[in-house]
Amino acid sequence: MSDTILAPQALSMLSEEEQMFRQAVRDFAESEIQPHVSRMDEAAKFEPELLRKLFEMGLMAIEVPEQYGGAGGTILMASLAIEELARVDASAAIYVDVHNTLVTTALLRSANEEQKRRYLPRMATDLLGAFALSEPGSGSDAFALATRAELKGDHWELTGRKFWITSGAEAGIFVIFANVDPSKGYKGITAFIVEREFEGFSVGKKENKLGIRASSTTELILENCRVPVENVLGPVGRGYKISIETLNEGRIGIGAQMIGVMTGAFDATVRYVKERKQFGRTISEFQGVQFQLAQAATEIEAARLMVYNAARLKDAGQPFAREAAMAKLFSSQVANRVCSLCIELFGGYGYSKEYPVEKFYRDAKIGTIYEGTSNMQLQTIAKLLLK
Ligand SMILES: Cc1cc2nc3c(=O)[nH]c(=O)nc-3n(C[C@H](O)[C@H](O)[C@H](O)COP(=O)(O)OP(=O)(O)OC[C@H]3O[C@@H](n4cnc5c(N)ncnc54)[C@H](O)[C@@H]3O)c2cc1C
Repeated sequence: MSDTILAPQALSMLSEEEQMFRQAVRDFAESEIQPHVSRMDEAAKFEPELLRKLFEMGLMAIEVPEQYGGAGGTILMASLAIEELARVDASAAIYVDVHNTLVTTALLRSANEEQKRRYLPRMATDLLGAFALSEPGSGSDAFALATRAELKGDHWELTGRKFWITSGAEAGIFVIFANVDPSKGYKGITAFIVEREFEGFSVGKKENKLGIRASSTTELILENCRVPVENVLGPVGRGYKISIETLNEGRIGIGAQMIGVMTGAFDATVRYVKERKQFGRTISEFQGVQFQLAQAATEIEAARLMVYNAARLKDAGQPFAREAAMAKLFSSQVANRVCSLCIELFGGYGYSKEYPVEKFYRDAKIGTIYEGTSNMQLQTIAKLLLK
């Protein structure tokens, strides 16, 4: 065999740099975040100091080129960070996920040089980002959005309401989608870079949620919100394309979040079954329990490989939309199954907030909903399969 042909590598093999990065995030999550997790979940509030530390750790500009103050890394590295954070706290993971895989990605793909120089260095330092597509009346049917943008000389005026916006309470910069000409349908949708301080912009009600409770999810209110013309992101009328392409990448991040959530639940369960005794033996000695764990471990492995594969495809510049949708669909389904099993293996204790698995179970559910519900992933996969 010619030695110019690269030997195929196992998907789960990481470079030395990737291993060191993953270990650094794991150590940070366990030492700095873990002590606050249940208090933040109960209070439904993320510790501002931890947000600052996420920036300090370099976790908020993973894929941003060094010339804009980022780490010049890959989506695989972003996925490793999201997975490790979610192993401890899915809320911490989603702050990093949305900022990196949606907001930063949208700017890296579509911003002009001036916009990149103006925003990316700040987004690497302390400016948190949010991505606002959904509205009260449009979720899966995202392009039916009702927010309007009207050109008024040197600025646009945005009017409407955005719903379910992750990090809305803390973000300083928002990528907001609005329609400039509803007669053109989805071809009127345009992306805007909106700063929190812009006139006519305000943050509305914060949701009280089932899971990822420490992550803020808010309404945004746009009342003739003044956005300078230089803050249009990408061409006018191409917002639909920006949102589709950005969400394709974002789904890899949600897949990674789900891997982290189920791994956290599973690791705690493996420790527990080796300690808990019934019928004079640890419950891990029962073959019925062993088989349940073996099945779960197999599904986690499959889901992880799908997420890493989608990430590696994207990093290699190959098409990845189908694989990303599959990875998001499958990892969120497996996370729901595995976290449910973990509660059962903890027995009654699994149902109590004294133990960690009930939170993982609540946090797993969102994976089947945001960035496209499971049905929407199936629709994407089917469309790509049958085209
Ligand atoms: C915690 C949280 C955070 C979020 N963060 C953000 C964010 O940061 N930015 C943002 O823009 N949005 C965000 N969202 C919104 C999220 O993306 C939407 O909730 C999601 O896309 C589903 O839309 P919907 O809630 O309107 O449900 P609907 O679209 O009303 O769907 C309801 C049900 O109908 C099914 N359905 C709908 N249409 C079809 C169809 N054609 N075929 C088959 N089934 C269908 C769906 O699968 C689902 O089961 C967030 C949501 C939550 C809960």
